[in-house]
Amino acid sequence: MLHEHHVLNPATEELVATVPATPPAEVDAAVARAARAQSSWAALAPGDRARILRRVADVIDEHIEELAQLEVREAGHTVGNARWEAGNARDLFAYAAGGVERLTGRQIPVAGGINVTFQEPLGVIGVIAPWNFPMPIAAWGTAPALAAGNAVLLKPAETTPLTALRLAELALEAGLPEHLFQVLPGAGDVTGNALVEHPDVAKIVFTGSTRVGKQIMAKCADRVKRLTLELGGKSPNIVFADADVEAAAAAAPMSFLDNSGQDCCARTRILVQRSVYDRFLELLAPAVESVVVGDPADEKTQMGPLISKSQLERVRSYVPEATARAAIRGTAPDGPGFWFPPTVLTDLDPSAPVCVEEVFGPVAVVLPFEDEAHAVRLANATDYGLSGSLWTRDVGRALRVSGAVKAGNLSVNSHSSVRYWTPFGGYGQSGLGRELGPDALSAFTETKNVFISTEGPAQ
Ligand code: NAD
Repeated sequence: MLHEHHVLNPATEELVATVPATPPAEVDAAVARAARAQSSWAALAPGDRARILRRVADVIDEHIEELAQLEVREAGHTVGNARWEAGNARDLFAYAAGGVERLTGRQIPVAGGINVTFQEPLGVIGVIAPWNFPMPIAAWGTAPALAAGNAVLLKPAETTPLTALRLAELALEAGLPEHLFQVLPGAGDVTGNALVEHPDVAKIVFTGSTRVGKQIMAKCADRVKRLTLELGGKSPNIVFADADVEAAAAAAPMSFLDNSGQDCCARTRILVQRSVYDRFLELLAPAVESVVVGDPADEKTQMGPLISKSQLERVRSYVPEATARAAIRGTAPDGPGFWFPPTVLTDLDPSAPVCVEEVFGPVAVVLPFEDEAHAVRLANATDYGLSGSLWTRDVGRALRVSGAVKAGNLSVNSHSSVRYWTPFGGYGQSGLGRELGPDALSAFTETKNVFISTEGPAQ
């Protein structure tokens, strides 16, 4: 069993920090402390809880640059992205704070009395986060769970615990009650598993691989434990011949290279209508080749390294003879660090593993299609269903294809898909439940229905 985790800078392989792991006995103690803190928190007036959460957002805002620099060092994210991520954590708390006083029940007409519903907090929530967006994903679960009156125990990924630990310190500094939000670093199958199996953890919010998500779902089934899953993706980017092909080709590179492709929404299957296929590739090549790959701390850098050696090996395994087979290849630094260049593959069988499995690296495939029906068939030919984009000037087609693609988050003539105020989640094996958006707090409540008779006593 690992008792501490070495956090490495993925761009240099230098040691950034050593973080002690949380053994199961300490998880038990943390759950007990969290349960006590939760009772007092839930009893506070909604306005008071909201005010504290707004202060958490303000204190995060005062530390954006510090958090961003920490993210650059521990995760290798470009500094521009890291600033956005710290700002996203701030916005999550501010948005959730606005929901506290609006978490109302309903009054439903019935005969012989009144019927009201209550949105009760669940209790202690376990949030298990991945390494690819450590701050935003930690905040996606934590902020609405706290706003709905719960306590949160956050298990960050082994490789990226530092920003999570700092967020918890800042929350305490802002006035969040002690023990209400605790960060428990450690191995997934030890610390994470202790949260999943703990009888007093009411819900697990898991973001990570589909493989681990299925194991957690099976364990939660044993107790009918509440569960939200945000898992992998293999999202299509469908370019129709009637689209602005120049705009589609210009936008395509960063739709799969952002965060070095370690993005569950990455548009890694580029489907292009046959009549514009050659033109699209001609435009795509210089756009991919000119992406600036290098030191993530440099403001001009667009793509940094992969998170770890094991992730680098995983990505390499999908592109065995990379240089020979790649249709388009960008650049990457030599020397230390976990670097892989932007890579586009063509002339593949659509059922090849690289076309249907999640690579989680800067690798995309381009496949031709004949007509709308063929595009939809290809788009849906994976077990995943997280995101997708389609490029067309035909509004009817945009709506038809949006309706036919089985994915939770689609964008037309754009690659944007994640906003904290719109719902996010997957179809199929990309997940279960939704996060973010106007209903984010409800996912951390149980609805209680109460009928009150207005009949007088029997005469
Ligand atoms: P992972 O599944 O290995 O780990 C995710 C988290 O779960 C980590 O904190 C890990 O320690 C923990 N964990 C691992 N085994 C566990 C167990 N048995 N019990 C409890 N916890 C356990 O995934 P990863 O390598 O950290 O992240 C990459 C994957 O996450 C990719 O497949 C990616 O698509 C997916 N992802 C999905 C989303 C989404 O929103 N859908 C977002 C980010 C990442």
